[in-house]
Amino acid sequence: MGHMDPAFHELTQAVSEQLRAVFRTENPCTIALPATGGSGPAVFADNFVEEGDRVVVGICGVFGERMAQAFERVGAEVVRVEGEWGRDIPPAELTAALGPEASVLAVVHGETSTGVVQEMDGLGAACREAGAILLVDCVTSLGGMPVEIDEWGVDAAFAGTQKCLNCPPGLAPFTAGPRALERLEERSRPPGSWYLDLSLIWAWWDPETRGAYHHTVPVNSIYGLHEALRLILDEGLEARWERHERAHRAMRAGLAVWDIGVLAPPECALWPLIAALTPEGVDADALRSQLLQEQDIETAAGFGQFAGRMFRIGLMGASARLESVEFLLEALADPLGKDPGPAIEAAREAFG
Ligand SMILES: *Cc1c(COP(=O)(O)O)cnc(C)c1O
Repeated sequence: MGHMDPAFHELTQAVSEQLRAVFRTENPCTIALPATGGSGPAVFADNFVEEGDRVVVGICGVFGERMAQAFERVGAEVVRVEGEWGRDIPPAELTAALGPEASVLAVVHGETSTGVVQEMDGLGAACREAGAILLVDCVTSLGGMPVEIDEWGVDAAFAGTQKCLNCPPGLAPFTAGPRALERLEERSRPPGSWYLDLSLIWAWWDPETRGAYHHTVPVNSIYGLHEALRLILDEGLEARWERHERAHRAMRAGLAVWDIGVLAPPECALWPLIAALTPEGVDADALRSQLLQEQDIETAAGFGQFAGRMFRIGLMGASARLESVEFLLEALADPLGKDPGPAIEAAREAFG
């Protein structure tokens, strides 16, 4: 199938429709960018910001910092609102930083480096009042816990395919609403990157200008995404969120039996990712390498201050289920010198 084939265009329209359902938005401009989720901050910065604009960024982990740097690279005046790693940022602190000058508020909804979910309440309304647009990284939350683009008043957001959407990596689902698209029209000059120019990318997806060539749309990846989204919508988005929540609760309950700390408290916990802290005297990286070599289980390392003390557990998409939780607890018992029975029992009970 060629990417200019009208039949393929039909498929991309279907993907756009599916993505609207998953993002919970009516935005016509809902597409898949031809790059991984990490392209999102660059697309935000290149398209919605110009040199000298004041951009407020919430930072309580690695991905918030990345977003700040993307805005700095286009010459924005970045106001960093820093929060403790392992907690989200109180919305009032973010909105207080807006002032009359800010043109953008950018936050990470699911901070994968710490397993924290950002409270979104009040951000959309405050941005409207301040004349700013709200830009959100939903890479780890989309498909794994509630994301409500329209209800929250989010003006643009991006995600990735390989986290809770349970799809191969390579695309970044993306949505932009009218307030964000207005910024494109108001720009004093075109975005610095031709390739990441949203107007040109959108012209291919837009049913009105359909197929205006910009890049070779990654056909096979789009097919994969279509199927992954079909599975999500077949399961039901809410049912899927609930499954992630139950898997999260189960894993936490199991770890708690062994007094293994989880960085984020339950009230700001990102369901699909648990950042667990190793007990005193256990080297996290040795543990991770043992899990990988002996059990074929891959966990992620801790960043920054948590390097060597943290192992991050993904419960995303197909792995957000009780069997995975039990499998990992069983595998952890031996290296930690624990009895797996009580932890597995607790996990089962918490899963419900
Ligand atoms: C994984 C991730 C990204 C980057 O996605 P890539 O697919 O690695 O480019 C960005 N933001 C968050 C919150 C992530 O978890």
